[in-house]
Amino acid sequence: MTHFSGGCLCGAVRYVGKGKPELTFYCHCVDCQKESGGAFSVEIYLERNVVTIEGDTVEYDVEGETGNRVTREFCAVCGCPLFLVSDGYPEHICIKAGSLDDASWLTPEMHIYTASKLPWLQINDGLPQFEGDMEE
Ligand SMILES: [Zn+2]
Ligand SMILES: [Zn+2]
Repeated sequence: MTHFSGGCLCGAVRYVGKGKPELTFYCHCVDCQKESGGAFSVEIYLERNVVTIEGDTVEYDVEGETGNRVTREFCAVCGCPLFLVSDGYPEHICIKAGSLDDASWLTPEMHIYTASKLPWLQINDGLPQFEGDMEE
């Protein structure tokens, strides 16, 4: 059983979890570009009940492309993006992989929302690419 931990930039929010992510993916959606300030975000997707979160977060809700409410959670102190939950998969949580204390063991499996991938970003890892959300 893998155990992992992580937190925000300032340390006010910390989390621990166990198990392996069900999925690790690159997300090229416009919202992730805005939120991360980068070209994409890397997220791990796993059951909510394997993750314990401590510290205050603030939330920002948007209606996702599929009509589900998507809630992004940030550290209330430093604003670091940390978590994403969606009405579309209420039993699961996405964690921003860059917030892990050690993200080196992850194995990203796919790229999603490549329809909005920035043209100057080259993908040559051979992983599956989906123009929209992952196919379930
Ligand atoms: Zn913080
Ligand atoms: Zn995204």
